[in-house]
Amino acid sequence: MRNDRLERQSKVNLLNLDQQAMKAFFAARGEKAFRASQLLKWLHQHGVDEIETMTNLGKALRASLQQACEIVMPEVVYEQASEDGTVKWLLKLADGNCIETVYIPEGGRGTLCVSSQVGCTLKCSFCSTARQGFNRNLEVYEIISQLRVAVRTLGGGVKDSRAITNVVMMGMGEPLLNFDNVVSAMDLMMDDMAYGLSKRRITLSTAGVVPALDRLREVSDVSLAVSLHATNDELRDEIVPINRKYPIKELLAACRRYIDDKPHRKVTFEYVMLEGVNDSVAEAKQLVRLLEGIPSKVNLIPFNPFPGTDYHPSSRAVIDRFQETLMSAGLVTIRRKTRGEDIDAACGQLVGKVQDRTRRSASFGVIKQVSQEA
Ligand code: SAH
Repeated sequence: MRNDRLERQSKVNLLNLDQQAMKAFFAARGEKAFRASQLLKWLHQHGVDEIETMTNLGKALRASLQQACEIVMPEVVYEQASEDGTVKWLLKLADGNCIETVYIPEGGRGTLCVSSQVGCTLKCSFCSTARQGFNRNLEVYEIISQLRVAVRTLGGGVKDSRAITNVVMMGMGEPLLNFDNVVSAMDLMMDDMAYGLSKRRITLSTAGVVPALDRLREVSDVSLAVSLHATNDELRDEIVPINRKYPIKELLAACRRYIDDKPHRKVTFEYVMLEGVNDSVAEAKQLVRLLEGIPSKVNLIPFNPFPGTDYHPSSRAVIDRFQETLMSAGLVTIRRKTRGEDIDAACGQLVGKVQDRTRRSASFGVIKQVSQEA
């Protein structure tokens, strides 16, 4: 009995392995490297959950893999669909924590917003995930399973269905504080043996963990988004507290370094519009000065309120004025539409808090109750 348990505990979850790890795994077992590609295809392109069905592996290999490995995903507690086509999943992890993933279709593209941590440590004052506190980093399989679940629901593989064309690491958590696992999961997203998304279609969003941003430059070249939200350190210290450690000037220097050797790439700067806090014309002008010399675009995000917050969204007219000021200075400025509001799937509303979800799900059409317990 005890042995049995020990054996089970030491099983390798194959969804935790990117191509490099998969190759090392097979090398250690004396198998050829091409087995890694076969496995990745079964897992991520065919979405297979049983080693037994991997017919090109041979009987003996399948049997030994069954002894040593498992394929385990978080449990889908429910999926909710918004009137605008946005879909949100609540996933329950093995330890009982829950995370959220959101799919946002728009025109020809479909973007999946993926979580990297259970909760967040950064305490940005306008973000409801911050209120949940922090529990832990997500494992590779917990990150990649969010894409796997979405592909499964939305149909087809990523490559043929094109339902999911982009991934943004903008769900719960700070991806650069879960560096290795996030990089491995993004590698799988880009791997032709797995999801085959191009590096331009994967965006990592950070509040500005400067040393990790420099490390990212060494190992990956996904698109970069930076949550700026303020144009001076005094305000940014208050609303994005990690600024006290890595102030604006250092952050922007790291952004420059990130795209230095990447021609035609731009950094996206996210700027949440908080009424009377950061939305004046003077601040728009200051933003123009700050971003001078950095190939950039600005993404203005209307603030999404949540219970208990003292902030208010800037009015449409104020956002218009802010946007015009940036655009007339030549800055590409996009205004993010708020999506999935009716299912609390908008930016800063992802909380993975089960009790809350259950209460809301009663009034906002759960399209598929996959599991009763949460
Ligand atoms: N930690 C990462 C990624 C998660 S947040 C980061 O900070 O970039 C994804 C984006 O949503 C960030 O730009 C974040 O600042 C923004 N956001 C958080 N709360 C929000 C809210 N209530 N309304 C609008 N945007 C919000």
